[in-house]
Amino acid sequence: MPNQTSANLYELLASRFPSDRSKPCFLLSDGRAISYGELETGAAHVAGRLVAEGVRPGDRVALQAEKSAEVIMVYLGVLKAGAVFLPLNSAYTPAEVDYFLGDAEPKVFVTDPPAWVAEAAERAPLDTTVPRAASDLASLIYTSGTTGRSKGAMLSHGNLAENALALHAAWGFTRDDVLLHALPIFHVHGLFVALHCALLSGCSMVWLPKFADAEVLAGLNRATVMMGVPTFYTRLLANPGFTKAKAGGVRLFVCGSAPLLPSTFAEFEERTGQRILERYGMSEAVIITTNPLEGERVAGSVGYPLPGVELRIAGGEETGVIEIRGPSVFREYWRMPEKTAEEFTADGFFITGDVGRRDPDGRVWISGRAKDLIISGGYNVYPKEVELVLDELAGVAESAVIGVPHRDFGEGVVAVVIGQGDEAAMIAEARTQLAAYKAPKRIVFVDELPRNAMGKVQKNLLRQRYADLFAG
Ligand code: AMP
Repeated sequence: MPNQTSANLYELLASRFPSDRSKPCFLLSDGRAISYGELETGAAHVAGRLVAEGVRPGDRVALQAEKSAEVIMVYLGVLKAGAVFLPLNSAYTPAEVDYFLGDAEPKVFVTDPPAWVAEAAERAPLDTTVPRAASDLASLIYTSGTTGRSKGAMLSHGNLAENALALHAAWGFTRDDVLLHALPIFHVHGLFVALHCALLSGCSMVWLPKFADAEVLAGLNRATVMMGVPTFYTRLLANPGFTKAKAGGVRLFVCGSAPLLPSTFAEFEERTGQRILERYGMSEAVIITTNPLEGERVAGSVGYPLPGVELRIAGGEETGVIEIRGPSVFREYWRMPEKTAEEFTADGFFITGDVGRRDPDGRVWISGRAKDLIISGGYNVYPKEVELVLDELAGVAESAVIGVPHRDFGEGVVAVVIGQGDEAAMIAEARTQLAAYKAPKRIVFVDELPRNAMGKVQKNLLRQRYADLFAG
């Protein structure tokens, strides 16, 4: 079939590369640059090597490696060859990796992309792109599931293309932008959200292996857009070198993957005069909602559904589990038909597991995860509501509210707080604003909360750590 009928995501991305292929795609910290031409050639070599190694359309290619431009050459080469990209967190242990390799059964496993790509360059490139339908699988993303086995969300070429085009438009990307990219690339945020916006606009990226203060501050001198997780923003704010002038050349700061505290939003605006644009997404659907580029960005809200996304609250309740349907929503979990069936409604909405509500004008607010819901004495307690009250108390920088086993109440509300203070006085103060059953029965003070690579507080670890707080 001729290529016009193909919906291969690689073709869409490559069709937007700058006509001057010598333009830098990756600006590296050591002053070197890697051009769009080099990216394209690298992808063709990777695709050629994969085909030579017997990789056929639909075969999986796994990768576990530190961040580099070569990882992106492998990613694009895999798409070009019609295969399926499976990125693995570079922090996974060999035992964890074994599970993913056993489950996904990749044909090829790349662990040293620079060497692997260099070797591919000694063989023949693949000049054409293997045609794919919009519904064909492009990538398998294992979700960081906190309970049970990790599930592989199957994202198609169509899912990724639709979302990339929607974001590119929503956030006003142009070829003159320079994106500061300090995110990991084994997760949808860095791999799809950030990268696709840049490639679709043919712009350059300040390409940082990870978030390091000095490099980010230097990168901000060239960048026009920054994407990050909330921790990036709290770290920037903690650095006196991050000034209004530093942020002055950046037209857009985007944040997501975990809730952005309203206090961080406010402090950022005070420091820079700019409002962070918060958006909401997940491995199973990439980006779902975003605050507007033009118009009101509201602290604590994740904005409006992207065009084409239907979003509703389960059971038509005011606050409840968010359900979504739309062009970027994955179709199923890899080889888990029962899990897939459990997490979709009869009319095809994906049950996100996030709890939230909508304003009459459609603006969405997230109040937590359904599985983090605490049931104390038979009453439902949404941790977010309690956290918002605690975060306002003097001495509290951030709080994480969990439920742990309690003899009388089933679960007792516990607040784990970064900060210091008098526990009894704080509980009394919280009670002036919260019904007694919602107020924490204990407050534990800590220096740091456990977070995963995307900045999400790992409440499952906190629940384990404080499981015996009410024992005896
Ligand atoms: P992951 O699949 O690892 O990307 O995790 C997706 C989850 O991250 C979502 O289901 C939400 O619980 C959370 N999340 C992402 N963005 C936001 C946000 N802006 N506010 C609150 N939670 C978010």
